[in-house]
Amino acid sequence: TALPPMAATRTTCPYCGVGCGVLARPDGAGGLAPVQGDPDHPANRGRLCGKGRSLADTLGGAGRLTRARLHGRPVALDAALDRVAAGFAATLARKGPSGVAFYLSGQMLTEDYYAANKLAKGFLCTANVDTNSRLCMSSTVAGHVRAFGEDLVPGAYDDLDGCDLAVLVGSNAAWCHPVLFGRLMDARGSRGTRLVVIDPRRTETAAGADLHLPIRPGGDVALYQFLLVEAARRGLIAAPAAIGLADALADARADTPDLAAAADLTGLTPDSLHRFADMVLATDRTVTLFSQGVNQSGAGTDKVNAILNLDIALGRIGRPGAGPFSLTGQPNAMGGREVGGLANQLAAHLGFSDAERAMVGRFWGTDTVATGPGLKAVEMIDALEDGRIEAIWIIGTNPAVSLPDAGRFRRALARCPLVVVSDCVTGTDTQALAHILLPAAGWSEKDGTVTNSERRISRQRAVLPAPGDALPDWRLIQAVARRLGFGHAFDWRHPSEIFDEHARLSAEAARHFGRRFDIGGLAGLGRQGYDALAPVQWPVPVSRNGPQSGPRNGQLGHAGTARLTLSGDGARMVAVRHRRPDDQPDTDFPLVLNTGRLRDQWHTMTRTGRAARLAAHSPEPCLALHPADAAATGVQDGDIATVTGRRGACLLRVVIDAGQRPGEAFAPIHWSDAFAAEAAIGRIASPVTDPLSGQPELKHAAIRVERW
Ligand code: SF4
Repeated sequence: TALPPMAATRTTCPYCGVGCGVLARPDGAGGLAPVQGDPDHPANRGRLCGKGRSLADTLGGAGRLTRARLHGRPVALDAALDRVAAGFAATLARKGPSGVAFYLSGQMLTEDYYAANKLAKGFLCTANVDTNSRLCMSSTVAGHVRAFGEDLVPGAYDDLDGCDLAVLVGSNAAWCHPVLFGRLMDARGSRGTRLVVIDPRRTETAAGADLHLPIRPGGDVALYQFLLVEAARRGLIAAPAAIGLADALADARADTPDLAAAADLTGLTPDSLHRFADMVLATDRTVTLFSQGVNQSGAGTDKVNAILNLDIALGRIGRPGAGPFSLTGQPNAMGGREVGGLANQLAAHLGFSDAERAMVGRFWGTDTVATGPGLKAVEMIDALEDGRIEAIWIIGTNPAVSLPDAGRFRRALARCPLVVVSDCVTGTDTQALAHILLPAAGWSEKDGTVTNSERRISRQRAVLPAPGDALPDWRLIQAVARRLGFGHAFDWRHPSEIFDEHARLSAEAARHFGRRFDIGGLAGLGRQGYDALAPVQWPVPVSRNGPQSGPRNGQLGHAGTARLTLSGDGARMVAVRHRRPDDQPDTDFPLVLNTGRLRDQWHTMTRTGRAARLAAHSPEPCLALHPADAAATGVQDGDIATVTGRRGACLLRVVIDAGQRPGEAFAPIHWSDAFAAEAAIGRIASPVTDPLSGQPELKHAAIRVERW
């Protein structure tokens, strides 16, 4: 007789910032049975996209890193960890704290992130701790800090259900955040929510919109300046005492004194601008969702603040069904932000002032807290190149493909005397340049928490044992910390103890510095309470006496919305000016390359590339070209083209697409040389960064296209 099916484990999808709940169970043959959406998870209510549904297909089998390697040869894990610790100790002795660095990932669980950040910033005295989240949402972080004094996302997914107008800026949500897009489509059906999409490309998201504004790349600040000017002209400023209103409005008027100026800077018609202004300004319940088209820009922070300025002026921040909402790309970009996973943060939303460093030092029991911000992702390329960094530990990411100017990064990494990579898969382009590989536990094999785009903390839970010598990242970090003599500060036995420390630190930061990121109410859960934690949205302060609404389905947590109420008067408007992207086309490089994700792939395909049904959606690296550009270039649909930028070249299959703006091409980010020869688009991507956030301008590089 058949055995009864094993009970499903509630966990969280690792593929994007929506943070969908997943029900997973072993298949009895060493893998996972096909997963299902968790109907009780507030983010997805049972829904999953194709990537989520294919999770079981992306695990196990060949290509799994299960043993440590030293110079490519298998070695005992203890011996590899000895070499990592000895190498870091020698580099610290030779170069000081600035000679070592960590490059982390928004894939890491909060507990892993916390451990890495504590080791580097608390005990190695270096803030050279950055992450691929720098490429994802750091402009939003900088914009939030300028407007709200802290990295706060005021909105929640409930706003998508209750808005009358959704404006998507630089977001192809139908492909990149499909479950949230599904919620918007539900709202469209139930309450007639209208949709405006601002995107140079006619994406699948744009194709279903009431209004698509095919904006000129870099025109977003001017578009929102125009709306602010229009709001003032129509007498609609609802927060006249908002800090910075006069200066922000003056700069908006300087950029877009009239409709003609706005049309010129945005590349949009006066009619469409008027129509857009009528819709946004007349609809109180308007949510503005922004994503990588805003963030991945040399003016990303100003774009974010231009969007926030309008909502502050209109009094829409923190109101149900309204306000700005950042869609993060990575599953735990938010959790990383909370523990200080960026080079310019300390921990718990704190910076590097003497008072903040002293408080964190007391909490961690160390007097070697990093003295100031460290190197951001793109700055690390320079530091590797000129020898300032001589030891780097890369965790759970593939920067040899994903960083801009990836060819230069590869050359710089090849010069570095000690490159450590921990990962759950083998064969990445980055690993080819590593001296030591450490086997990490992957999704479904480890326990911890992640925070999604609406500040909701959810558990990832282990369903399967980790194979071979693979360990959770925090265990690998702990092992190195012990070897370096810091075992007393890293004596955790279970991730619940790290989470507890993180929660207590957030409460201290809230008490001393008034930080709104406060999960002190989740301290003291113990292992049992942590295991039972249901999705919960921060803030959860101590005064609320722990989880907010008691047990639900036998778990602790709450499914409700914790709204951050920021009045317009309590937020700051920031004066910004339009400026065009840096890498402008010329006669040698006459086209502009935009980059982004495909529907069924994730990052550099290290996991989604293993699932045949995901690969079927778009099996080859490609370049979308407008028909006029294809004709001018002499290429046809299906041709292989050499795409050359100022920093490198790729081979891509041409796809003729009338949804492209003339003069602009598009290529997906996913392929690496491990999957297709000379396909890594990072070789072409521009290393120009936003001066405030350090986020690279991945969506604008001048190129030329030639038939191969
Ligand atoms: Fe996973 Fe994102 Fe898809 Fe949800 S929307 S199933 S989190 S990839």
